[in-house]
Amino acid sequence: MSRKTTLVFYSEFDSFEHWSAFLRPHLPHVNICSAEEVTDPDQVRYALVWKPPHGFFARYRHLQLLVNLGAGVDSLVGRDDLPAIPITRLSDPNMARMMAGYVLFAVLRYARDIPAFERAQRERHWHYLHPRLPSSIRVGVLGLGELGSYAAQELERQGFDVRGWSRTPKTFAGVTCVSGMATLNDFLASSDILIVMLPLTPQTRGLLDEKRLACLPRGGAFINVSRGAIVDQRALTAALMSGHLSGATLDVFDHEPLPAQDPLWGLDNVLITPHLASVAIPATAAAQVADNIKRVSSGESVLNQVFPGRGY
Ligand code: NDP
Repeated sequence: MSRKTTLVFYSEFDSFEHWSAFLRPHLPHVNICSAEEVTDPDQVRYALVWKPPHGFFARYRHLQLLVNLGAGVDSLVGRDDLPAIPITRLSDPNMARMMAGYVLFAVLRYARDIPAFERAQRERHWHYLHPRLPSSIRVGVLGLGELGSYAAQELERQGFDVRGWSRTPKTFAGVTCVSGMATLNDFLASSDILIVMLPLTPQTRGLLDEKRLACLPRGGAFINVSRGAIVDQRALTAALMSGHLSGATLDVFDHEPLPAQDPLWGLDNVLITPHLASVAIPATAAAQVADNIKRVSSGESVLNQVFPGRGY
C-alpha cells in the first residue's frame, strides 16, 4: 500500500478525471483519489471538495487543508462539521475573466438597448434609438472582490461611469469606490445598471429587499451573478412587472433550478441563465490548489484563505 500523503476529491458536479489529470503533474508525490478510492483515511492530508455530505471530514483525522472547489463558499462556511484547519477557495484569474465576460455582455446589452431591438425585430419594426455614450451610464458593482474588481475594471475600460461598493474601503483607478452600509442606499440610487457580485453571508442574505430595490433609479437594469438569496426574489419580480426596473439578467436564484412555475420565466424583460456565469477551470486552477498544498506542507501560510467567522 502506498504511504504517500493523499488528497481526497469530492464533487457531484466536477469531473474527478479532469481535476486529477491537471493536479498530478503539480503534485507527483501526492496520491490523488476520489472519496470512494481512499483506502487509508489516515493518509489523507488535503481535501478538494464541493458540497460534500455532512460528516464527510470526520473520517480524515489528519487533514491539514480544505480547498473549496469553487469561488463561492456559502454552502461550506455555515456547516457545523468543519475541521479546524485552513480553508481556501479557488480564485483563478480565468474565472474572473470568464465572469467579467458575462457581466460585460449583460451590461453592453442594456447600454446598447439590445432588448428593445430584439422586441422590435419580432414585430418587423425598424426602431432607431440613438446610441448613448457609455460615460453617461452609471454602472454600480456590489462587491469588489476577486470577481467584482476585475469586472469593474473591464467596465471602466469600456468607458462606463463605474462605481463599486464593498465592506472595507478599496481603490481602483477610474472606479468610484464607497464602502459600508451607510453608503448603500445612495449607491443604489446612483446605479443605472446594478450588478450583484457579493458573497452570500449572514450580512448579505436578503440585503436587496423591497425597500432597497425601490432605491434603484426608475427604469434601471439589474444583473445578479453571485447568489439568489442576496435579493428578495418576489420583490425583484414585482419591480420588473411594475416597470420600476426595465430588465434583469439573472444567473442565480433562490432555488436552483428555478422552478418551472416561477413567474420570472414568463417575463420578457428578464434573461435567465442556469448558474454558469463563471466556472472553475481545472487546467488553470490546479496550479493554485497545488501551490497551497505545498505551502501547507512547508508550514507557510495559504493564499485565498476563507474565514468562516466572516462568512467569505
Ligand atoms: P470575494 O470574497 O473575493 O469578494 C467579496 C466582495 O464582497 C469583497 O469586496 C467584500 O468586501 C464584499 N463584501 C462582502 N460582504 C460584504 C458586506 N457585508 N457589505 C459590503 N461588501 C461586502 O468574492 P469573489 O469576488 O471571488 O466572488 C463573489 C461571489 O461570486 C462568490 O461569493 C460567489 O457567490 C459568486 N460566484 C458566482 C459564480 C457564478 O457562476 N454565478 C461563479 C463564481 C462565484 P471587502 O473587499 O471589503 O472584503
